[in-house]
Amino acid sequence: MKIYLDHAATTAVDKEVIKAMLPYFDDKFGNASSLHQFGQEAKEALEKSRETVAKLINADPREIIFTSGGTESDNWAIKKIAFTNEDKGNHIITSRIEHHAVLESCEFLGKNGFKVTYLPVDRYGRVNPEDVKKAITKSTVLVTIMHANNEIGTIEPIEEIGKICKEKGVYFHTDAVQTVGKVPIDVKKMNVDLLSCSSHKLYGPKGVGFLYVKKGTKIAPMIHGGGHEFCLRSGTENIAGIAGFAKACELAQKNMEKWNSHEKKLRDKLVKGVLERIPESWLNGHPEKRLEGNANFCFKCIEGESLILHLDDKGVAASTGSACSTKELKPSHVLTAIGLSPVDAHGSLRLTLGKDSTEKEIDYVLGVLPGIVADLRKISPLWKGDR
Ligand SMILES: *Cc1c(COP(=O)(O)O)cnc(C)c1O
Repeated sequence: MKIYLDHAATTAVDKEVIKAMLPYFDDKFGNASSLHQFGQEAKEALEKSRETVAKLINADPREIIFTSGGTESDNWAIKKIAFTNEDKGNHIITSRIEHHAVLESCEFLGKNGFKVTYLPVDRYGRVNPEDVKKAITKSTVLVTIMHANNEIGTIEPIEEIGKICKEKGVYFHTDAVQTVGKVPIDVKKMNVDLLSCSSHKLYGPKGVGFLYVKKGTKIAPMIHGGGHEFCLRSGTENIAGIAGFAKACELAQKNMEKWNSHEKKLRDKLVKGVLERIPESWLNGHPEKRLEGNANFCFKCIEGESLILHLDDKGVAASTGSACSTKELKPSHVLTAIGLSPVDAHGSLRLTLGKDSTEKEIDYVLGVLPGIVADLRKISPLWKGDR
């Protein structure tokens, strides 16, 4: 038995995506900067991919800069907007539930002459746009709030926040790694100036992503060199990866509704089943404004890490929260930000579904999970027996 329910960490590359990539390792191996036909073939693939990707978020192709993924895009947007616009001010606004790529970038800035405001969220993990408005001062240069949270799946009121930032003349960046291809995005309607995306979260290859940079945005290059990517991110382009990423975007655009309703149906069954079968459990995140594939539970008196290992023994791949927080034993910053105690936050389980998840898999999980939780509680010093 091998059941993958960790799609928020990464996804398998779609077969069609692999097929779209293969020629660029083989007879279309050219360097997109070369003038000969090999180069021109690669260049053509690069620019066609840029158009496909841009379409998914209603951007102009010239506003899409390919990067190595979400982490790079977040780092670039935040640090370079800050340093490039220092003459305007030194204040950054973010939230307490951002991905580490955003939080660590902000913390770095905080140690280098910038002031950072970390906005709280409500118990569902939503940022209040009014808080953003109140936090903006004359020295604010950037607001960075994620589109959807990778742990609890909560979707943020990006359009409202974008509107406020536009009115106040402040740059607005959003980490949309969890939403591109899953939630319809229109950067113009949402008033977004910068947006991060990663290919491997939407059935594309790892190590590719983009940063959307709205025309006219004042930002320094990420990498200096031969002038690739409109002189903003030099280095010979990863054509195979980019072509695969574009195919993944194309598939996501075509199948968004179908995949979402499939995942929602299974997720709802999973949530209902878990909460019915396991006492002293609850769902974290927003009841409706959440990613269709996301379920994040807490079980009283359980160590999330033990739960993951026991599930793995039964063939089920799950997570306690973000893949990055598993290296440390600190409770999830997202779960504590929504008001959970550190002890309760340790008892979390994230199950994230994908387009290829099946009802049989959900039935299997509903079959094994209650027993594992009951066994772990039996050996927990905190558990006082079924109440
Ligand atoms: C996965 C993830 C990232 C990091 O993207 P990589 O391409 O893996 O570097 C950033 N933000 C969020 C919300 C993510 O889920």
